[in-house]
Amino acid sequence: MTAMSDKSTQLHTMGLAELAQGLRNGEFSSREIVSDLLGRIVASQPDLNSFITVTADEALAAADLADAAIAQGNGPALCGLPIAHKDIFCTRDVLTTCGSRMLENFVAPYDATVVERLANAGAITIGKTNMDEFAMGSSTETSYFGPTGNPWNTKLSPGGSSGGSVAAVAARLVPAATGTDTGGSIRQPAALTGTVGLKPTYGRVSRYGMIAFASSLDQAGTITRSAEDAAMLLQAMAGFDERDSTSVNEPVPDYRATLGQSLQGLKVGIVRQHFDAGLDEQCAARVKEALRQLESQGASLIEVDLPHLDLSVPTYYVVAPAECSSNMSRFDGVRFGYRAKNPVDLMDLYCRSRGEGFGAEVKRRIMTGTYVLSAGYYDAYYLQAQKARQLISNDFEAAFAKVDVIAGPTTPTPAFAIGAKMDDPITMYLNDIYTIGANLAGLPAMSIPCGFVDKLPVGLQLVGPHFAEARLLNCAHQYELLTDWHRQSPEAYS
Ligand code: GLN
Repeated sequence: MTAMSDKSTQLHTMGLAELAQGLRNGEFSSREIVSDLLGRIVASQPDLNSFITVTADEALAAADLADAAIAQGNGPALCGLPIAHKDIFCTRDVLTTCGSRMLENFVAPYDATVVERLANAGAITIGKTNMDEFAMGSSTETSYFGPTGNPWNTKLSPGGSSGGSVAAVAARLVPAATGTDTGGSIRQPAALTGTVGLKPTYGRVSRYGMIAFASSLDQAGTITRSAEDAAMLLQAMAGFDERDSTSVNEPVPDYRATLGQSLQGLKVGIVRQHFDAGLDEQCAARVKEALRQLESQGASLIEVDLPHLDLSVPTYYVVAPAECSSNMSRFDGVRFGYRAKNPVDLMDLYCRSRGEGFGAEVKRRIMTGTYVLSAGYYDAYYLQAQKARQLISNDFEAAFAKVDVIAGPTTPTPAFAIGAKMDDPITMYLNDIYTIGANLAGLPAMSIPCGFVDKLPVGLQLVGPHFAEARLLNCAHQYELLTDWHRQSPEAYS
């Protein structure tokens, strides 16, 4: 084997921090990284289907520019590092489908703020990843472009809705990817694929150019293989954006600078309700081991109560569809997206464009959402859900008066088979029982790998008070120093 092939056999195993270091030291070029990963992406597509679009030519051209900048010593923080974007983010001149037939041919005329900021930081977009249609789902099976496979076992789902992004990161096709999380779509799939998923505080990252599902819950975040890489990516994405009215004008701390803090004295909340029936026993055991490890580093474990936790799934499945039904109304076959052939009149155009353009899950949500918002039912459902949402937020606030972070399981079980839950939406919805609360309350939360059950990854979820991303990242990083779960890779993609 030549020195060159030695090197290229390792590039895919490196994370953002390591690749950035190697690029600066001249150990390899951005073109070498991008070429290596493009080869892996193409080879993996038949089994994983993690990408909807691969922007190979653009990525190689950007790599050459990055190599030139690095050679002159002036590349920005993520210069030359390839990443993938969930196909929910608008990318100028590049197909942006949101996993839907409705947008099968939609080429965005502008970049989402997230895409623009990452590009300004030097990151290279290598492609757009598969996802549940309009991010509605927990398994990536509602995608118009077919399901994504879990790299740990391709018969299993990687979770969703950011399934393509997590599969790509877990299979070492990219060091990092973006995702979005409305009810768990970053954390749940991260847990099921052994990756690190971070959903920031609502308002921390701009939603401009991110196709809306449920606007009061949607938040963009990161999928990586380490907390340090998550810190690097979030650094570039976070911050005020006047184009998003819910973007918060708070300074962005240096997330990487605070990764070295000891856990001594950290108060970790353990939620009694998390370990009730419903949680797989072996998953519970892995999570408890992780909690003991945090304790061994000086953290204290304190029991907290989230008495309205059981309301979070029903509350979410009123609020999210209500907002979805409003957001989806823009897809009318007139302005952009799919248009039915030969309509006889305007109503026929609307009805058939939406009937043919949307898949079953999106239609189910539009119908539920329209129902809960309709006069006569509004008070009984939507208003009730808003009240329950407030109670859930209050529970978290009371808990964070006592503890610094809350730790527990991300999902009730490890990865499930493709097809296993598609006929039973309620069982599918219950996958997000532990993740939805953070969205309803707008809190930052992340999932990190904490072990395996039957060779399948298990995730530990950390939730913090508003804007405590740095605390979560440090906690995750300290845990990663003690364990190597995050370094494990699926055998077929090592
Ligand atoms: N699984 C949840 C849903 O189907 C959450 C999706 C998401 O976070 N985008 O709505």
